[in-house]
Amino acid sequence: MEEMNLVRLIERFQSEDKCRAYLEALRWPDGPVCPRCEGTSVSKLADRHQYECNARSCRYQFSVTAGTLFHDSHLPLWKWFLAIYLMGESKKGISAKQLQRMLHVSYKTAWYLAHRIRDAMGDDEQPLLRGIVEVDETLIGGHRKGYGANYRGNKATVAGAIQRGGEIRLRLVPNARKGTLEGFIRANVADEAEAIFTDELRSYDGVGDANTRHETVQHSTEEWVRGSVHTNTVESAWSLLKRSVVGTYHQISVKHLDAYLGEFEFRFNGRENPYLFRDTLLVLLHGDSLPYAKLIEKPDLDAERRKRDLEIKRTKKMLERRGLKPC
Ligand SMILES: [Zn+2]
Repeated sequence: MEEMNLVRLIERFQSEDKCRAYLEALRWPDGPVCPRCEGTSVSKLADRHQYECNARSCRYQFSVTAGTLFHDSHLPLWKWFLAIYLMGESKKGISAKQLQRMLHVSYKTAWYLAHRIRDAMGDDEQPLLRGIVEVDETLIGGHRKGYGANYRGNKATVAGAIQRGGEIRLRLVPNARKGTLEGFIRANVADEAEAIFTDELRSYDGVGDANTRHETVQHSTEEWVRGSVHTNTVESAWSLLKRSVVGTYHQISVKHLDAYLGEFEFRFNGRENPYLFRDTLLVLLHGDSLPYAKLIEKPDLDAERRKRDLEIKRTKKMLERRGLKPC
């Protein structure tokens, strides 16, 4: 198994043709398929990157990027490939501004790339947290010029849960009320978790049950640690998150915070995925070609995403059976 590095990336994907061939291997492990009628009898058109469907009633001409956002972006494939590599490598995150400089594209393009890739990277299925789980919530977001220090219009509440020795879950939530935080815990922590540790915020009252003990530290009375009971792990995650938001992103709008949290989670959990590069490309190939304008509206993509995840899973299995080497 070969892991990707910059030298290998350049060797393998230095030309559009090489990038295209790789996408073809990913999208069509069994050979080209007509995207319109799903026919598998297709002919390659000479001197072009296109295929033509042989079905008499179809005759559709297409390339491997047809119907994907690679096609709609009008950006050279190698810039996509490089952007994916850079974003996967950078432990502290990479801003659209940095991408703009490194790829020599407009800010708007860099921003679009960053969002799409970030979204594709944070797409793993997430198991429920177990064992000892620390839960906390925090406010993220900067102040705005001309508004006082207490201005909250650009602030958002983020709920976090972290399994000791395990993964973190971060979600943008509307508030820190009891119902909201209970819902967050139900969605992310296994019913049979051993313990939930929180601070004394009343919203957390009663989150324990017969098989999950709930313990709190009283921050108001300067109690931070009581034996193994503390929320220091989740609090270190908050400081890392806040530094990274300030350091890398300067100001992050609440609107895009959700996507950013996904990327932060992904890096924090440090899931060592040697196939990250391949998997990101796969998600992007199967993703819809959501245009820039729609992305800004940020519609609810959950159902679409689940459908796409299933398709990707099937393709991965197929690729593994075919022994296609990931990079
Ligand atoms: Zn066809």
